[in-house]
Amino acid sequence: MVTRALDVVLLGPPGAGKGTQAKRLAAAYELLHLSTGDLLREEVVRGSELGREAEGYMKRGELVPDALVGKMLLARLHSQQAAAGCAFDGYPRNLEQAGLLDGLLAELNRRVDIALYLNVPDEALLERLTGRRSCPSCGAVYHVVTHPPHVEGVCDTCGGALVQRADDREEVIRERLRVYHQQTAPLLEHYQARGALREVVGTGTQDEVFERLREAMRSTKR
Ligand code: AMP
Repeated sequence: MVTRALDVVLLGPPGAGKGTQAKRLAAAYELLHLSTGDLLREEVVRGSELGREAEGYMKRGELVPDALVGKMLLARLHSQQAAAGCAFDGYPRNLEQAGLLDGLLAELNRRVDIALYLNVPDEALLERLTGRRSCPSCGAVYHVVTHPPHVEGVCDTCGGALVQRADDREEVIRERLRVYHQQTAPLLEHYQARGALREVVGTGTQDEVFERLREAMRSTKR
């Protein structure tokens, strides 16, 4: 039996838990986790032309130009790993990107099947983001208070040294939140209008949020 691809968009402000939950959804539903933030950070570390162009925008908490991100996305979307569907994390970030994604998926006879909106109030986001630490080697994410590693500063999974993202400093976070409200929040309406939006309470434990997402996913058939 041929199953149709399943394409899921994770929406929500920075710090809502999109990365953590997208990883879990990708594992549970056998999707490709497609995080444009992770991909861009890899390009920056690699020092590629794209990385060098993107770095300044990222450091300031601004969006990287659509054309740069779009090219990067296109290559991944056409890869074999994306054939069964994707969990999009951090893309789209504005209405132009949403339109581009619709077009790219349509070429593959696919569409955004469901847009999951992780709703977390702004007050909680600042605390989450300033305490966030991540492992550059394996991508694991921790929080100094709510989800600390067993040994401070060391990744439980791979033993790598944990770091704070350059854009998780308070003044940059404020800019990222401003950009979110101005450019990304209008996407809720975009997906609501076509009946694809599901809102999920993004506070509580990671397991609780994941259960809510699974529940919301039940309304979507492959
Ligand atoms: P994230 O890891 O999703 O919080 O993204 C970190 C940073 O990468 C953002 O603040 C932007 O500078 C950049 N970025 C990630 N995804 C996109 C996107 N879809 N469009 C433009 N910039 C992006």
